[in-house]
Amino acid sequence: MQYKAYSLQNLRTLPQLTHLSEEQIRDIEIVGSVLPFRVNDYVAGELIDWSSIPDDPVFVATFPRREMLPAQDYSRLRSLHDSGADAETIKKTVNEIRMGLNPHPAGQIDYNAPVFKGERLPGIQHKYRETVLVFPEQGQICHAFCTFCFRWPQFTGIDELKMSSRGAGTLLEYLAAHPEVTDVLITGGDPLVMKTDILAGYIEPLLAADAPNLQTIRIGTKALSYWPYRFTTDRDADSLLELFRKVGHSGKHLAFMAQFNHPVELETEVVKQAIERIRETGAVIRTQSPLLRHINASPEIWADMWQKQVALNCIPYYMFVARDTGAQRYFSIPLTEAWQIFYEAYRSVSGLCRTVRGPIMSCLPGKVQIAGAGRLSGEDVLMLEMIQGRSPDWVGRPFFAAHDDKAAWLSDLKPAYGEEKFFFQDELDGMLQPGEADSAGGW
Ligand SMILES: *Cc1c(COP(=O)(O)O)cnc(C)c1O
Ligand code: SF4
Repeated sequence: MQYKAYSLQNLRTLPQLTHLSEEQIRDIEIVGSVLPFRVNDYVAGELIDWSSIPDDPVFVATFPRREMLPAQDYSRLRSLHDSGADAETIKKTVNEIRMGLNPHPAGQIDYNAPVFKGERLPGIQHKYRETVLVFPEQGQICHAFCTFCFRWPQFTGIDELKMSSRGAGTLLEYLAAHPEVTDVLITGGDPLVMKTDILAGYIEPLLAADAPNLQTIRIGTKALSYWPYRFTTDRDADSLLELFRKVGHSGKHLAFMAQFNHPVELETEVVKQAIERIRETGAVIRTQSPLLRHINASPEIWADMWQKQVALNCIPYYMFVARDTGAQRYFSIPLTEAWQIFYEAYRSVSGLCRTVRGPIMSCLPGKVQIAGAGRLSGEDVLMLEMIQGRSPDWVGRPFFAAHDDKAAWLSDLKPAYGEEKFFFQDELDGMLQPGEADSAGGW
């Protein structure tokens, strides 16, 4: 299949557009000027069932719609467009709206970019002791953009919202200076939009350096789901798989972290073939997805998805809570409901699917799992537990929040049992620079 992508510029040439009304197309254009929009012909032609528009889950996941913006922002932008306002005015409004959508949740830029030799490293994040994240400059785009994306500012063209790294040089130095790091996670955007030789420019120096601490190279990608031809018929598909093999032969583990949001993404012949080809290289595919209203908010969908993944030799890894950024208002699910969906699905599948952990909030102190909900010692509570923490000592210590039907993020929760703060609060405050806590936009 030849790759063809559609963005706002050529949206009106997308063949399937005949299924939409002029009003729906207009909304894609208006909302798509704030939240990034891009789709390709595999997603549009093979994954979306156009007879179920507008409720089709992959359509919801890739096409912007009115409800994804706050109502007053939508009307403001709409009237500017309708009255033929000039490009400069529209751009200014678009940027204001973007800044109101919490572009950098959980203090990603303020707190996770490490300082090395007196300078903040561009395109590298180091939050949890063992794992360093790399954002290669050429991988800051995706085969199609997800409307729920928490990395959306990467694609807006606003420079100060971007994180990106050029080459492996500083990364190698950083690894040598940090023997506690065992994992390098190459992420984006989607690093597998990069040509193999550019990706190799990051991976081969890592292998050549033969850093004794480095055990695992992870690649976070949506390519399996949105462009499986990357592993089958693309011109450099074979050389990509050869690169994966090389990682294995050098004694490192290649962990392929695939995002799948709905079982339909696992059903085409080409995705099955792609999974098989990746697995033949020795790489292990682990899967993750956020829990999203209008896309996958039911235990049946998750159980089906995990079972299909296990049947295809993939390992379910994470279920995330939708982050407090971008179009979250449209996708968000209260934490108690998230817990119910997770456990109902979890109880209905075999132990081989229960490698998955969730629901997890990736927030300022760490990855916080909702481990239980119910009545304990006379109070309705949520039991929480960190499975990753800014301090490794926080991991695995249960803590309790008062039950709250509406809470959708850690920052909405209050400690239970009359406690004033959660156990990690003082230590966390001490880690953040004075005065910076406000700019983190909460947790
Ligand atoms: C999730 C995450 C990791 C990886 O954590 P694991 O528990 O090892 O999967 C690393 N860094 C950041 C910032 C993360 O959010
Ligand atoms: S694939 Fe990931 S980074 Fe790319 S748009 Fe989707 S959620 Fe965002």
